[in-house]
Amino acid sequence: MGTGILTIDLDAVASNWRALDALSAPGVETAATVKADAYGLGVAPVARALHAAGARRFFVAVAEEGAVLRDALGPEPAIHVYSGHMPGDAGILSHHALIPMLNSIEQITGHIEALPGHPFGVQLDSGMNRLGMEPDEWAAVTRLVMGQNPVLLMSHLACADEPDHPMNAQQLAAFHQMTDGLPVPRSLAATGGVLLGPDYHFDLTRPGIGLYGALPFEDAAPVVQLSIPVIQTRSLAPGETVGYANSWTADEPTRLATIAAGYADGITRHISNQGVLFHDDIPCPLVGRVSMDLITVDITHLDSDPETLQLFSVMQTVDDIAEIAGTIGYEVLTSLGSRYARRYVSGGA
Ligand SMILES: *Cc1c(COP(=O)(O)O)cnc(C)c1O
Repeated sequence: MGTGILTIDLDAVASNWRALDALSAPGVETAATVKADAYGLGVAPVARALHAAGARRFFVAVAEEGAVLRDALGPEPAIHVYSGHMPGDAGILSHHALIPMLNSIEQITGHIEALPGHPFGVQLDSGMNRLGMEPDEWAAVTRLVMGQNPVLLMSHLACADEPDHPMNAQQLAAFHQMTDGLPVPRSLAATGGVLLGPDYHFDLTRPGIGLYGALPFEDAAPVVQLSIPVIQTRSLAPGETVGYANSWTADEPTRLATIAAGYADGITRHISNQGVLFHDDIPCPLVGRVSMDLITVDITHLDSDPETLQLFSVMQTVDDIAEIAGTIGYEVLTSLGSRYARRYVSGGA
């Protein structure tokens, strides 16, 4: 097999959903955010595992993702679309029974005109200034919109991964101000908000990243393993160089493995000469530059040439690699390329 094998533990996804669900009161519904192909892990198997664990409400970024998810889950679960109702979306929203989270007066009027009576929610801006209606805009149309029976009012936290950040309380107060007294379910918390505690939970939480085993959910069960086959090994004499731009030079006799993955598979060049792969529990330094399809690894200290090396395993998480690369686990996961063989395991398999 010439490609890396990305193993996705669906039991870990399910147990992360249950663990996040257990952090809110029984009356609070825990939904699941599965946008961007379930953060790169494959929306159909991941969403089915979440549904089996008990999730009955899902969130995606755009209507096209909602259509794919509807086909995977069947007619029953609720599917919400964060980007709302974009021009030309009426057919897909209606055909796949998707609930747009409307972000502006233009979206609201466009939606009511195009799909009268079709369920919708409203996204409010509590301070992040990314999506949703501003407080004064919302105040001007609250009565009119409430007359159309929105099914959910939501907002999003900008700094929830920093529990002590004053922005959290500020956004909480703004969300209360915009929604208190309205007879509609409310949602403010993604993964970070779930961890901030009950004040932030309202009626519904919608975690994403924590389900997939990454920060800020420190207690998450790891979900992904990535095993990459060794294509070739060789011995280098002191003074020989490795890879593009000669960026690494052997200063002693070195055994080198070339493995079958690179930046086209989402392994960023930013970990060139810095990342580490593992042979079971033995770290093996990545030497030279990450190239498009290949990575070179120093295996001098191993007893024998390995058949595969692991990038993600119990030894190293997506957050570990994110830290070396100067990014976040979200980006490492959603960058994982389409070339890996994705293997889904569950039931102790
Ligand atoms: C992506 C997203 C979420 C999920 O966030 P996580 O940090 O991955 O839990 C929730 N709400 C909105 C609006 C989002 O864009």
